[in-house]
Amino acid sequence: MPVFSTRAFNKHEQVVFCSDPVTGLQAIIAIHSTVLGPAVGGCRFWDYAAAHRGASLEVAQKRAEEDAVFDVLRLSRGMSYKNAMAGLRIGGGKSVIIGDPKSIKTPELLRKFGEHLTRLGGRYYTAEDVGTKPQDMEIIHQTSNYVVGLESGDFATGDPSPHTALGVFAGIEAAAKYKLGRKDLSGLSVAIQGVGNVGRDLAMHLREAGAKIIIADIVKENIERVLAAGPAEVVDVQKIHAVDADIFAPCALGGVLNAKTIPQINAKIIAGAANNVLDDEVADDIALQKRGILYAPDYIINAGGIISVESEVYQEHLDHHERSKKIARIAETLIEVFETSDQKQQPTGRIANELAEQRIDAKRQSLKDAAE
Ligand code: NAD
Repeated sequence: MPVFSTRAFNKHEQVVFCSDPVTGLQAIIAIHSTVLGPAVGGCRFWDYAAAHRGASLEVAQKRAEEDAVFDVLRLSRGMSYKNAMAGLRIGGGKSVIIGDPKSIKTPELLRKFGEHLTRLGGRYYTAEDVGTKPQDMEIIHQTSNYVVGLESGDFATGDPSPHTALGVFAGIEAAAKYKLGRKDLSGLSVAIQGVGNVGRDLAMHLREAGAKIIIADIVKENIERVLAAGPAEVVDVQKIHAVDADIFAPCALGGVLNAKTIPQINAKIIAGAANNVLDDEVADDIALQKRGILYAPDYIINAGGIISVESEVYQEHLDHHERSKKIARIAETLIEVFETSDQKQQPTGRIANELAEQRIDAKRQSLKDAAE
């Protein structure tokens, strides 16, 4: 199975394949870069074979492994960029555990995974991601110190979602200022796709700022929670991306900006929490620029959570004021990306990647210079 020659491989420092026949653990840990500090990124527990049902068992397994390798390489590089653009002292990494968490996730398997983390000696710290929960992190923590996003302990930072929502709010303010010349959000309309942990808090901040909110969610209770706190227009989940709003804030799924949805968007700004929101990282970035829609790159605007978690890696206490200041810097970073994008006439996603690589390269060079 190719690794170095896959499209997603991009100067990764280390890729570790872990297994344990007793618990059924099959995991891959990818460390993209430790130039800025120890690599940090979540642990995704995902049934990669599900997409290949219908193929023979052997083929399904092969394809699942290829998908897992692709995912871990792509996501770990994304974490390097995200952490670099957030100005953090951490690098980028990610891990995936292959299999359906509903059927194979056991405390024993998670503890085995923790043992593998421990062997890496702190080059990579894991955290919650799709398919893993805060409780799973507590179990992994029984065999490894290299776990962050914990709920208990001296330096635990707990649920990152409120911090992510605050960062997205700061990013929306920055985008509205840049694109619409608005010094505040009063009277603007924001369509929020998905009012879960992040979307719900974002709705609250937007309401407080005087914005009109339009929401959609596949879970009725989540809609009701938002309505219980104040007014909002509710629309169909199929239509939220296309409503007449100033800003579209995707806070549910990845891939919602694609060849089908982009022509239907009426908003002038896209700024939300969802990860990997561009279905095709290159083509959709260009398509948004061509339509004159200002896209706030996902990994910059949704960095509030990781900003909060960084202190756990360094076993530091981050007070509320200091954390808010760091999160507010998301706005400055976005303005830098928007301005550079306009100067170079290139899409914002591409500019963000280039700036992230420049930050990592500059640190690599300064470390090299210091060693000489
Ligand atoms: P969540 O699961 O709490 O909320 C997602 C919401 O979207 C849920 O209410 C769900 O019902 C809804 N949803 C799912 N499919 C939908 C659809 N087709 N249309 C409309 N609504 C739909 O997740 P979250 O923690 O709020 O995260 C939201 C997004 O932000 C995710 O993409 C996540 O990866 C990303 N993100 C979250 C954080 C964080 O700190 N939680 C940090 C960075 C990025």
